[in-house]
Amino acid sequence: MAASRGELLGLTEDELAALMVDWGEKPYRGRQLYQALYRRRQLDPGSMTEFSRSLRRKLASCTITLPRLHRRQLAADGTEKYLLELTDGEKIECVLIPERKRNTLCISTQAGCPLDCRFCLTAMLGFRRNLDPGEILGQILYVLGDKDLAMGSTGDGSRPALTNLVLMGMGEPLLNLDSVLKSLIILADPGGLALSPRRITLSTVGLVPQLRKLARAPVVPNLAISLSATTDEVRDRLMPVNRRYPIEAVLQACADYPLKGNQRVTFEYVLMDGVNDSDDDARRLVKLLAPLRSKVNLLPLNPGNANGLKPSPPDRVKRFREILAGKSLPAYVRKPRGMEIFAACGQLHLAADQLSRTTRTSRLDTNR
Ligand code: SAH
Repeated sequence: MAASRGELLGLTEDELAALMVDWGEKPYRGRQLYQALYRRRQLDPGSMTEFSRSLRRKLASCTITLPRLHRRQLAADGTEKYLLELTDGEKIECVLIPERKRNTLCISTQAGCPLDCRFCLTAMLGFRRNLDPGEILGQILYVLGDKDLAMGSTGDGSRPALTNLVLMGMGEPLLNLDSVLKSLIILADPGGLALSPRRITLSTVGLVPQLRKLARAPVVPNLAISLSATTDEVRDRLMPVNRRYPIEAVLQACADYPLKGNQRVTFEYVLMDGVNDSDDDARRLVKLLAPLRSKVNLLPLNPGNANGLKPSPPDRVKRFREILAGKSLPAYVRKPRGMEIFAACGQLHLAADQLSRTTRTSRLDTNR
């Protein structure tokens, strides 16, 4: 799809080689272009001096498109949220979370989302469309350029680097699996963006067939599952997708997910007052996760949607965490980041006055 538009960003090495062959060039020119685009991030064909003038002219007739900045907000804690506009006017969010020893970027895989989780702000936007690989990677390239960041393991030590990536922004990555898998290949390839798969985390509600495909993909990222309930009855209500793939089926697919070394599956659990935050829930969670190598990220609900759900009070969150930790289940409470910029997914996109005026906290912390 990208090639037919004359868009180069998002094409894999093989696709670029095929394009070169189409143009009567040697296939290795494709690899050169691939490295220019992703490794050196040269987005202007005029600067690709390894190519002949005539080839540069041909390249200049294609496009290399980054998303356009629509709006940007910087929080006092350094969290920066970008609302980016795509060529057709759709808007997506990504968030840069600087920490002492790492910088994490949270990116989107869809504009909007069809899954309709009751507590999620993106759900209020509905589903717009899937992003193509160029649009998924374009978020990263945009922020690297904006912040003059080096990339992960290719960081040169003289300037800060983007060290971690989470596919946890707008959308459900496993509903856009082909584009996500292509993006992961380019991301992890040493000739591409060269970010170790160990530093990439994909967050999903747990679509079982796609999860099994991801487990066998060429690049297997860390897995985070948005669980947020310990019974199907409650999860059915909070996350309608649970009717299709209930808890037990999701956990079984997690048990089959390949883990290396000390890797664990992360379970994200949005704590909602009186809904899923009882001591019994905590004990059930321990039981459910006992067969797995797992850890839990507890996320206080980010208020602001219209469904009457409230965040669990801090002492409830504390007690919930203690029950898990007491049973040797590693559990972390994500500290709120970027509160004043409404850094939760969907919040920058929705008009501020559509949201409640209560204090907002972000789920986009990386305390894992
Ligand atoms: N569809 C994917 C990725 C996007 S959501 C998924 O569900 O994992 C990313 C994370 O934000 C999920 O863990 C989700 O449960 C959480 N989340 C959504 N709405 C939230 C809210 N209002 N407050 C706190 N966390 C929220």
